[in-house]
Amino acid sequence: MSAKPRILSGMRSTNDRLHLGNYEGALRNWVELQDQYDMFCMVADWHVLTTAADAEVHPDIAANSLAIAKDFIAAGIDPAKSAIFRQSDVPEHAELALLLGMVVGVGKLETNPTFKEKASEVTGDHIVSYGLLGYPVLQAADILLYKPFGVPVGKDQAPHLELSRDIARSFNHLFGEVFPMFKDLIPSDESRSKLPGLDMRKMSKSYDNCIYLSDSAEETAKRIKQAYTTPTKIAKTDPGIPEGCAVCQYLKLYSPDWERQWAEDRAGERGCSQSKQELTEVLNEYLRPMRERRAGITDADVEDILQEGAKRARLVAGETMYEVRKAMKLIK
Ligand code: ATP
Ligand code: MG
Repeated sequence: MSAKPRILSGMRSTNDRLHLGNYEGALRNWVELQDQYDMFCMVADWHVLTTAADAEVHPDIAANSLAIAKDFIAAGIDPAKSAIFRQSDVPEHAELALLLGMVVGVGKLETNPTFKEKASEVTGDHIVSYGLLGYPVLQAADILLYKPFGVPVGKDQAPHLELSRDIARSFNHLFGEVFPMFKDLIPSDESRSKLPGLDMRKMSKSYDNCIYLSDSAEETAKRIKQAYTTPTKIAKTDPGIPEGCAVCQYLKLYSPDWERQWAEDRAGERGCSQSKQELTEVLNEYLRPMRERRAGITDADVEDILQEGAKRARLVAGETMYEVRKAMKLIK
């Protein structure tokens, strides 16, 4: 087994595609960290059911999970270095979630802002499930099983990670120091840790304001054409406000020439369509290696990689569970 410190992170397979925000906030860090650390990349399929268990909204989780794993590989996660696995292939996640559930107060879960928000969205005959209330316990199990050095995520996940640490502290206090604390690995640059969407709200699949990693170059061009720019900039000569313009925000991230482009936008020396055109070119160039890698992998390859990843994950998870069972005096 590798002597490198471990890193673990995951993405829910609520749909079949990751967006540029998922990449900039989390996945890009995973790719960058995989040489230095023993990286575990999880497709969190059980977590989908915390918000989508009703038959009428139930997505094809199996197909989505395969597609998300393909996105990981296309983005540059190398299965020879990193373990890519599906949560439901590693039953230790369920066992640890059950046991951690014994040390978490219901009050803490009921006051969790994400739970309150998601519970308030439940309408009609639908129920607020025990699974939704308990998703932070499952998330804590996902992380703690791997005793990671750090967890690379976007900024919105910081409170969740704090809750996982809280659960680890409670467990350690009651049963001994089984779980070491871990770091949040969140990009320091706000435009990456919380990438704006094409409408300048946070990029999120629920807002339909995304650029998807699996979009073709043409689809990307089309989406950029619809992006939000300075609303008072109608004519080319009207001054723009790059700070509030989605296209300028992306130019800052992807174009080496962004300072000149911003200055021209501000001075009314360029039109928004020119900025969109230039952004399309640099962004498509940025996404090109991902498209090339994607074209070289089949679903069957991804399934094999997931099986292999689950074996590696279960080795680590099994060791941790042995310690947990001992600490809780379930075994001698
Ligand atoms: P949902 O709309 O269902 O919340 P999402 O698009 O926000 O979905 P998640 O599955 O919640 O995606 O997030 C997966 C990972 O991507 C997390 O680490 C999260 O912090 C990160 N992430 C999501 N959106 C962004 C964003 N706009 N900028 C940076 N990171 C993001
Ligand atoms: Mg989210």
